[in-house]
Amino acid sequence: MLLCPKGGFNCKSHLTEINRLYKDSQNYQQNKDYQFSVQALERAFEETFELQKSTCINCANVFQAEIIDSFKNIEDELYKMSGGLFGRRYIRSKNVVTKTLLRLTRKLEESKYANINIPNRNTGT
Ligand SMILES: [Zn+2]
Repeated sequence: MLLCPKGGFNCKSHLTEINRLYKDSQNYQQNKDYQFSVQALERAFEETFELQKSTCINCANVFQAEIIDSFKNIEDELYKMSGGLFGRRYIRSKNVVTKTLLRLTRKLEESKYANINIPNRNTGT
């Protein structure tokens, strides 16, 4: 269960959605439904940007890091499985995860730059 590190109340509805998707993803991973697992995780990731927009940037950053970690975890698992005797069918999934991970990491970098370039534009006193 992911919680707002600042105890933010506004984050709650987004967090509920992120948690739901995150949990879905883990269930799919356990059942080796990697494609669905990756899809759910990617949607959770998208949802963190909603969180970032509306309320808690710290919160969003924590979950983004967590989700990237989970992606790496799935990638690791697939890497091991695709090497085995029956591993051929996992190779495609592994490539999908690698591509998605690359795309999300890039998006994360871009959003960080965007935040740096417009610091607190709307909070002028
Ligand atoms: Zn928060």
